[in-house]
Amino acid sequence: MPAAERRFFTQSQGLSQDLVLSGTEHNHLANVLRLRVGDDIIIVCGDEFDYQYKITSITKSQTILSLAKKWRNEYNPKVRLTVYMGVIKHDKLALAVEKLNEIGVSRVVLFKSSRSQDLPIKLDKLQTIANQSCKQCRRSIPLRVSGVISFEELPKDAFFADEKSNTPPRFSGHPSLASAQARLISEGNLIVGPEGGFTDAEREQLRKTATPISLGRRILRSETAAIVGATLMLSKLGEI
Ligand code: SAM
Repeated sequence: MPAAERRFFTQSQGLSQDLVLSGTEHNHLANVLRLRVGDDIIIVCGDEFDYQYKITSITKSQTILSLAKKWRNEYNPKVRLTVYMGVIKHDKLALAVEKLNEIGVSRVVLFKSSRSQDLPIKLDKLQTIANQSCKQCRRSIPLRVSGVISFEELPKDAFFADEKSNTPPRFSGHPSLASAQARLISEGNLIVGPEGGFTDAEREQLRKTATPISLGRRILRSETAAIVGATLMLSKLGEI
C-alpha cells in the first residue's frame, strides 16, 4: 500500500520532529494494517499540511515516528460552504457529517426549530467522524461541527432547502436566483430543515431573508437533502 493511502489523524496542531501514536491509531497501524519499522505513513492534524513520517519503533502500546517531510495538502476545499441542519437522530447526523466532509463542506452547524427533535447532541462524536473521514477523502482540515443554535440565529444570507418551492433544483437559468447566485463566489450557506420540516411561520420567515431552492419533486430525508443540496452548491461554487 503506498504511503499516501496510509493516513492517520492526530488532534495536535502543528507536528514536531518525533511523534508518538497510541490508542486507536496505534492499534490500527500496528495490528490492522500490520505496518513495520521503516514504513512511511502520512499524518494529518487539522492544519493545511500533510506530514510524511517514518516508523522508527513499534511497541505493544505505541508507535514512534520521525518526520521525513511535509507539504501543503491539495484536497482541502477552496470554497467555504456551511450547512445548517435541523437536529435529527445521531446516526443520521453522523451519516451526513461523514458525507459532507467527503464532498468538501467546511462547517456543519446544528439548529433547533419548532419541529426538530429534542435529542441529545454528541458534538464530540460527530467531530471525530469528520476527522476520521479525512483519512478516506484525503483532506487535512476536517469540517467543523458546532451548535446547537436557535432558529432565530440562522444566517440571513443563505439558500434554504424548501420542499414547497418551485425553484428548479439547479442554480442556473432561473432569474430569481440571479442575484443570489452572484454572491455564491467563494462561500455560501445552506439551511436544511429537520425531519418534521419547517412550520408555515418559519418558512415565511426564511423566505423573507434566504433564497428557497427545490431539490426536486420528491421529498428527501433531511440528511439526503443536506448532501444533495451541498453537492449542488459546491458544484456551483466550482469545488466539484
Ligand atoms: N415534513 C415535511 C413533509 O412531509 O412535507 C418534509 C420535511 S423533509 C423530510 C426535511 C427537510 O429536507 C425539509 O425541511 C427541507 O429542508 C429538505 N427537503 C426535503 N425534500 C426537499 C425537496 N424536494 N426540496 C427542497 N428541500 C427538501
